[in-house]
Amino acid sequence: MTNIVQNAEAVLERLVDPILGVDFKTAKMIRAVDLQADGMLNVTLRLGYPARVEGGKRAAEAEAALSAAGIKAVVKVEQEIIAHKVQGTLKVLPGVKNIIAVASGKGGVGKSTVAANLALALMHEGANVGILDADIYGPSQPTMLGVHEAPDSKDGKTMEPVESLGLQVNSIGFLVKEDDPMIWRGPMAAGALQQLLKLTNWRDLDYLVVDMPPGTGDIQLTLAQTVPVTGALMVTTPQDIALIDAKKGLRMFQKVGVPILGIVENMSVFVCPCCGKATPIFGEGGADNMSREYGVPVLGRLPIDPNVRQAADAGIPRVAQAPESASAQIFREMALRAAGAVALLGKDYSAKMPPVRPLERK
Ligand code: ADP
Repeated sequence: MTNIVQNAEAVLERLVDPILGVDFKTAKMIRAVDLQADGMLNVTLRLGYPARVEGGKRAAEAEAALSAAGIKAVVKVEQEIIAHKVQGTLKVLPGVKNIIAVASGKGGVGKSTVAANLALALMHEGANVGILDADIYGPSQPTMLGVHEAPDSKDGKTMEPVESLGLQVNSIGFLVKEDDPMIWRGPMAAGALQQLLKLTNWRDLDYLVVDMPPGTGDIQLTLAQTVPVTGALMVTTPQDIALIDAKKGLRMFQKVGVPILGIVENMSVFVCPCCGKATPIFGEGGADNMSREYGVPVLGRLPIDPNVRQAADAGIPRVAQAPESASAQIFREMALRAAGAVALLGKDYSAKMPPVRPLERK
């Protein structure tokens, strides 16, 4: 009888998870394989990434593989997104398991659009998600997510995140007037962003997406060194001048020990709505070259899509507005790949470490 369990385990261990790109054994996905009195197997799989949609697919794949091996089984899938370790000696924030920094070398490449849609896509796939708009040069999340009221404070010291479209949101844009120029110097801006991050009462987030200020200057470097980031995602267009800056950004994160989850190529092509012809307005192949050069994956390629722009301007990004539309599906695949890359990173143990106490003198 135990042979059935062993055979089933052998079948399951060889299956490859399409989001992670590794087998179930390597990904430690097999939680339990139990033989019931009626000869049926109960299998439990654990997914370290959002499982609302993917869970059913993994269960069906596992049941089909077992059935092909002559084993009848019922496969259950559990979602377990854990906190992963962050750079250097920094500690994971309370209430936030993983921080995903969305960065770009240059402004105007669609970083904020990607950040908003990434956050919504992670939520759509089943995660508890927040977004922090740290783009001091142009905080656009309040507009993109359709929220304009400032966050509430219950104790006069900390802030409650604003809820919008199911996300917990805070933005530097809530704290300054829309037409106020940002004339903070580096340390001041980085300090303000740190406070915004730490003084917000984030509640039980699997992922906090941080829309970073574009560029690789003082502020960005300070943030990359002091915000406990699980992984960073670089947004670029295929254009050479955007890529040069994106590479600088990538190297900046690598230097401070933040893993790069991948590259998102935005505005890859323009597909003519009349004839369907795809024109690579900003050039071709840039993200692929960068991917080869630095050994990081391309998580997604988004076309120039007027619907993406209109949806963001209307305060309901494309993933929330039309989750099944072509661009939303690209965002959702991209989000799953990013979450998969996070799932493969090392676990955070800092929360479990006992506090260090001075030794008592005898
Ligand atoms: P960044 O944060 O890099 O400065 P934004 O996300 O604010 O860039 O995007 C700049 C402009 O481009 C916005 O008006 C946005 O709606 C638009 N945009 C971004 N990505 C796309 C896309 N794939 N298709 C069409 N418009 C886009």
